[in-house]
Amino acid sequence: MPFEILPDDHLVDPTVQCDACEAVCCRLTVVVMPDDIVPRHLTTHTSKGLEVMARDEDGWCVAVDRINMCCSIYSQRPTVCRSFTMGSGFCRAERDAYARGIHFELRD
Ligand code: SF4
Ligand code: SF4
Repeated sequence: MPFEILPDDHLVDPTVQCDACEAVCCRLTVVVMPDDIVPRHLTTHTSKGLEVMARDEDGWCVAVDRINMCCSIYSQRPTVCRSFTMGSGFCRAERDAYARGIHFELRD
């Protein structure tokens, strides 16, 4: 994930809910670990050989269900997605950035 550790990441805001979010964390660079069971046709490699979730031209992970704006491979999602806590500091930072129109680019 392209974030520095946030000092309050352990603090969860219970008012933040994925159901009322446009899956904005699914626009981040998602590194796939060797043990992850992600369908490999949904991944790609950076120029430095890092396996990541592929993203559409508009930046969202290719595994996003664009109708319901949720993960279409939820039970097979990468470890990094499983550890991304709803309402955490990372979550709130990404939502804030999205609201301010900041778009993250894939980093090599
Ligand atoms: S974890 Fe946070 S940023 Fe991601 S979909 Fe849920 S509320 Fe949105
Ligand atoms: S694998 Fe699923 S949870 Fe992870 S970024 Fe892609 S759509 Fe989001």
